[in-house]
Amino acid sequence: MYQKILVPTDGSDTAEAAVDSALDLAEKYEAGVHALYVVDTDSLSISLGGEQIDRIEQGNFAEMDEVRERAEAATGYVADRARERGLTTVENVSAGKPHALIADYVEDTDIDLVVMGSHGRSGVKRALLGSVTERTLRSTHVPVLVVDVQGVE
Ligand code: ATP
Ligand code: MN
Repeated sequence: MYQKILVPTDGSDTAEAAVDSALDLAEKYEAGVHALYVVDTDSLSISLGGEQIDRIEQGNFAEMDEVRERAEAATGYVADRARERGLTTVENVSAGKPHALIADYVEDTDIDLVVMGSHGRSGVKRALLGSVTERTLRSTHVPVLVVDVQGVE
């Protein structure tokens, strides 16, 4: 049924809470697990200069410790949990608009299921869904499982 499952993660508790659901399905369907962290260049633009943003968008953030560490921690969490179940994970980091790059990854990699959190790092629970989740639902044609974790802050 599912051969490749994508877990987009911003490293938040809510994104992490979706990981178990993703891995249960991966085990059941013997699917490959893909973890994707997108460096959100729109939210970075407040704190960084244009030149740094350009470099990040070109994928040159290896020496920007804070950016790289956050990315590696986010995808690494998925990979660690997967490894505990004997599953391997393809870890990926890109930079730009999260929902657009999630949709691109789905297309380019032939993902057939996305499992993600209802909310993310902003922690604002006023809206039913965070904007990345809502936009991902509007931009992909594959099923998206949205895991809403009440009480996870
Ligand atoms: P908003 O960003 O709209 O203020 P939020 O941060 O609470 O609200 P979202 O950003 O939509 O909510 O996060 C929902 C889910 O989307 C996360 O649990 C995660 O699965 C995914 N996600 C969010 N940001 C990223 C990102 N930069 N890279 C990969 N996945 C992301
Ligand atoms: Mn967010």
